[in-house]
Amino acid sequence: MAEEIKCARCGQKRPSLGYAPVPVEIGQRLAQEVCQSCWSQWLQQQTMLINHFGLNVADPEAQQFLLDQMRAFFFGQGAQADIDTSKQGTIEW
Ligand SMILES: [Zn+2]
Repeated sequence: MAEEIKCARCGQKRPSLGYAPVPVEIGQRLAQEVCQSCWSQWLQQQTMLINHFGLNVADPEAQQFLLDQMRAFFFGQGAQADIDTSKQGTIEW
């Protein structure tokens, strides 16, 4: 059922994700503009972010942080958190 799109992240023609993975505005964009393969890469990235920053995903601030990270990851908006250096605890909410 997923239609082929030119993915906003990798630029390849691939089947779109086809569903909104988060219940906010960016979810609709992800459904229509991002491929399934990039979404799986994000899920790995998200797991690393959660582990690295010790995020509690029930926390609204952590959810907002992850949404901002999604915007950076898929659409190049804003700054991606650097998880390779010792910046733990320096994120400004
Ligand atoms: Zn892609």
